[in-house]
Amino acid sequence: MRIAVISDVHSNLAALEAVLADLGAVDALWCLGDSVGYGPEPNACTARLEQAGALAVAGNHDRAAIGRLAIEDFNPLAAAAVRWTAEQLTPRSRQYLAALPERRAEGQWTLVHGSPRVPVLEYLFSPAAAAESFAHFATRFCLVGHTHVPIAFAGGRRVAAEYMGADATLSWAEDERRYILNPGSVGQPRDQDPRAAYLVLDTERCQATWRRVEYSIAATQALMAQRGLPRPLAERLSHGW
Ligand code: ZN
Repeated sequence: MRIAVISDVHSNLAALEAVLADLGAVDALWCLGDSVGYGPEPNACTARLEQAGALAVAGNHDRAAIGRLAIEDFNPLAAAAVRWTAEQLTPRSRQYLAALPERRAEGQWTLVHGSPRVPVLEYLFSPAAAAESFAHFATRFCLVGHTHVPIAFAGGRRVAAEYMGADATLSWAEDERRYILNPGSVGQPRDQDPRAAYLVLDTERCQATWRRVEYSIAATQALMAQRGLPRPLAERLSHGW
């Protein structure tokens, strides 16, 4: 099976379309949450994900946008974008977001937004945080988003972390280790590479490949300006931060 894994689309339709065009034929499309928030096209993004048959889980922005997570813990810019998103959502988008589960298990794979321990909220940046997580999922692999940084954590006596930039690959053909993999963010990358990020799993070849795709950042920024979204949120897209 060839599976595309995306996360943190954040209402950035131009980035999502670029990724969908790039990934080619896949047997499944998995989405690790935060489909809305920050960006200018929340309804178009949820509709596109639905149309593409994405199997998705809920992120903190998805929950906040439908009033199921308090925005007190969001920074002021993120909170402003959540409020704007909540006003825009159509009943259909709200229904779509409300139906997203916190966690899914698909064969050898567990899907969550943040971590398997605290699915919607916990950030996995460090090997120490990842080490705590391995006890909280039963499958061999766990897929997480939330940090917007593409990374692979390999389990074992000591957890190893590796940043996975453009075209990085990981093979599990020759080992028995367990892994936590983060595809990076489609709509708001935070690893200094502004291109949209996603991950392709090839279950026959036991290989994961991290991909980056150019998209029209200017088009998304123009829409954000038009819609009155906070300027720093648009500017950061140019810097991949
Ligand atoms: Zn996010």
